[in-house]
Amino acid sequence: MAALGAAGCRLKLLTERLREWRRLERRNIYKKKWASSQPRVPSTRLALHNMDMSYSLQFAELWPSIRLALLCEQKYAALLNSFGDVARTIREMERRRARDFVYEGRGEKAAPGPDWTPPSPVAAGQESPGPEPAPESPSTRQVKHSVPISPNLKCFTFPRGDITRFEPARPDSLRLLEYYLMDAASLLPVLILDVQPGHTVLDLCAAPGGKSLALLQTECCRHLAVNDISSSRLNRLRKILHSYVPKNVRTEDRLRITSFDGRHWGKIERNTFDRVLVDVPCTTDRHSVLEEDNNIFSRLRLKERQRLPLLQTQLLVSGILATKPGGSIVYSTCSLSQLQNEYVVERAVDVAKTEHNVEVCLVDLTAVQTLYSDTFNFHGRCRVGELVLPHLTANYGPMYFCKLQRIN
Ligand code: SAM
Repeated sequence: MAALGAAGCRLKLLTERLREWRRLERRNIYKKKWASSQPRVPSTRLALHNMDMSYSLQFAELWPSIRLALLCEQKYAALLNSFGDVARTIREMERRRARDFVYEGRGEKAAPGPDWTPPSPVAAGQESPGPEPAPESPSTRQVKHSVPISPNLKCFTFPRGDITRFEPARPDSLRLLEYYLMDAASLLPVLILDVQPGHTVLDLCAAPGGKSLALLQTECCRHLAVNDISSSRLNRLRKILHSYVPKNVRTEDRLRITSFDGRHWGKIERNTFDRVLVDVPCTTDRHSVLEEDNNIFSRLRLKERQRLPLLQTQLLVSGILATKPGGSIVYSTCSLSQLQNEYVVERAVDVAKTEHNVEVCLVDLTAVQTLYSDTFNFHGRCRVGELVLPHLTANYGPMYFCKLQRIN
């Protein structure tokens, strides 16, 4: 009996050890799984790796210098607040030896003096200038752009190679901030949109609002519709407009802020606007190689990233449909990727024609390149549109932009 009892005890001990061993083993398995699901590689590294793979093919010998500039400090420009004390701010800019690149690009050597007065704003209810003559060419041909650009914009930069920074803007005597700091290349889509007095304008993906602010600075928009799907980002936009634009310009008949999915806009408000800006969500290349926060190269956002070209195409088609016949559309991204740039434009032009019977033509922007080559480093080799490449001597961009004109 005693022998049986001892055997029973040993068996019990063995069973317990076995259980313990299994428990440990299970814990190890879980530990292993838990560890492998951790994002061990930072998203910025994934972004850079991804770009090394694709952009070294796309840009060949240019890629190392673009890569270096992307990883270095970006250069900023100061968009003058035309609603503020303009003369004083211009004097201050000249004292700092900054220059208005928009003004110089127009072929005029110096910025206007302190006696410069802003043009009178377009009165609400003023007639639209009416449809522009539609170009005769089919969508495959490009129309020469004589570079009519949106008026009244003043944007100061330091010369090439000068990396002086602008100080943060302060409120002026009118309690409006004197300038808005932005990547100077972000102004190019607004400039080539060529907003003219009396135009109705749609900014389809507008937040946080740098380009909407520039559109208002033209003082040409009879009506500006500002839209973005993200209500939190729209709150940032509201704050910006509040700091730069007087109350009498932010009235409902002149400025409408909405939060719709821009992909459906063209179905709801069709053939309506003289000008439409489609500044789409993209891989935001500079942000993606520098910041972990909200990085689209994070493993968790793989599907979202893969779906970007489709979303961008749908937004551009929607923007085309929202434009009046004869009106213009500008598509832009801050990515270097051909898949998000030229391919999206070409696909959208095709979809507009085959699915909606709407023809658009591409506007040739080589003249824009000539005008602003002192300030920016243009790629000049895009099949359609233009691309500003980051470069250490002019570290703006990336910024891709393409202009379309609706024929019918
Ligand atoms: N134009 C803005 C500026 O200059 O400050 C930047 C726009 S950002 C590149 C793209 C914006 O598109 C984001 O604010 C995002 O919330 C918005 N967006 C994404 N999907 C959208 C959709 N389906 N409809 C409308 N907006 C969308």
